[in-house]
Amino acid sequence: METLANYIGGELVAPQSGTYLDNINPATGAVYGRIPRSGEADVDNAVAVAERAQATWQATLPEQRAAIMERIADLIEQNLEVLAAAESEDNGKPLALAKTVDIPRAASNFRFFARAITQFASESHAMGEAAINYTLRDPIGIVGCISPWNLPLYLFTWKIAPALAAGNCVIAKPSEVTPKTAFMLSILCIEAGLPAGVLNILHGLGNEVGNAIVVHPKIKAISFTGGTVTGANIASLAAPKFKKLSLELGGKNPTLVFANCDMEKTVEGVARAAFANQGQICLCGSRIYVEKSIYPEFSRRLLDKVRGMRVGDPSTPVEQGALVSQAHMEKVLAAIDSARKEGGTVLCGGERIVPEGRCANGYFVAPTLIEGLPLNCETNQQEIFGPVATLQAFETEQEAVALANGTDYGLAASVWSEDLRQSHRVAKQLEFGIVWVNCWLQRDLRTPFGGVKNSGVGREGGLEALRFFTEPKNVCINY
Ligand code: NAD
Repeated sequence: METLANYIGGELVAPQSGTYLDNINPATGAVYGRIPRSGEADVDNAVAVAERAQATWQATLPEQRAAIMERIADLIEQNLEVLAAAESEDNGKPLALAKTVDIPRAASNFRFFARAITQFASESHAMGEAAINYTLRDPIGIVGCISPWNLPLYLFTWKIAPALAAGNCVIAKPSEVTPKTAFMLSILCIEAGLPAGVLNILHGLGNEVGNAIVVHPKIKAISFTGGTVTGANIASLAAPKFKKLSLELGGKNPTLVFANCDMEKTVEGVARAAFANQGQICLCGSRIYVEKSIYPEFSRRLLDKVRGMRVGDPSTPVEQGALVSQAHMEKVLAAIDSARKEGGTVLCGGERIVPEGRCANGYFVAPTLIEGLPLNCETNQQEIFGPVATLQAFETEQEAVALANGTDYGLAASVWSEDLRQSHRVAKQLEFGIVWVNCWLQRDLRTPFGGVKNSGVGREGGLEALRFFTEPKNVCINY
């Protein structure tokens, strides 16, 4: 059984507590590793080494920082097979998904921000003949990055890469539910020659080591991705200390299907949006609204598609793997029960799946479509974060927009229509940070990424991330 270690000061070290948590493979239910149970003392140690590393890292030229980050990206790519296998084992996601999405994207995150920092420029504002202003964008110092379990290495590196590129030292914590690839990244960072103390990776529970990172007085900014309740808790602790905060939180994302959509492409896209990664992506479209005139045909074709999805051993060619943990599976099954109690009709799925063989004790739930529920019910208001989506018909564009906007969340929406004017009109009215038209999760790393309402504060991606991880200082010079 493998025992993971923290990465502090360029070395792999045991937690100060000497205690460990179990790491469970969700496809089999078996304990297969041990995770450091870190706490305040480990955060103190990490901050101490980061403080020593900060001045040198900050003074390193962007090109030199970029070169090290490109080496990390190369190493991630060279280790794609082992990293993907580890991600699938740790998280339950299909191996093919980890190979084609999670791990390549982790490499791209490092490569993208390595290159972006060499092009990063700050502003200057001339005041006629009187004066000139220029804005310095210095690193913040030591920053904290906390990430969730759904896209483990993908989201972990999405935060770490811009923070490092901008010249900060980082104390990072992956989810305790999926720690393996973050641990493997530690080893790759050592191999790539990242100077000691620049990146420190601590493992353990959110309310222990996570909390210690959030409240540490020398950690000046927190970039967090996770649940809305956790985000609110973190904000309440960090705000009185005036820390810079970026919060990427939950979603209850709508999918709007108009009568003039390309039916075949839309069925494919809507199914992917609802069920990719077992519905455990913050951007998943879990409320599907379909124009009434095509509702019967569209729902029939979508049902056929979803019923045909293979669910099972993530190391085999399946579309759906395991949910991330037993607790999460139980939460998703309880949400399906509550949908039934609210009067919903389960059109497909709706139950746990017990595969034959080595995955018989794994946490599998059949992809589930539910119809007959109004907007104002728990099922359509609360994030389920599993393979569960609801279907509802609408009559007018106005009604579709009102349904889409009718929750407390505002992360992402997708619109399926071949009428360009309609797509623009609808996109403009949607209260979301991200709108996809005739696509879903088509990502360009330069674009602002994040949500409005209860889906978060701030934006990641491209210049937004580099601006977040730097402190602007304006210098005004009188001529
Ligand atoms: P979570 O909030 O339980 O945990 C996220 C991270 O925060 C973990 O590393 C956890 O250990 C840590 N944490 C928990 N309590 C903490 C505390 N008190 N102080 C500091 N850290 C703490 O979320 P999760 O269950 O891992 O992930 C699922 C959630 O993440 C969903 O709500 C999903 O929508 C959201 N999510 C959002 C985005 C986005 O970009 N908006 C992306 C992915 C996931």
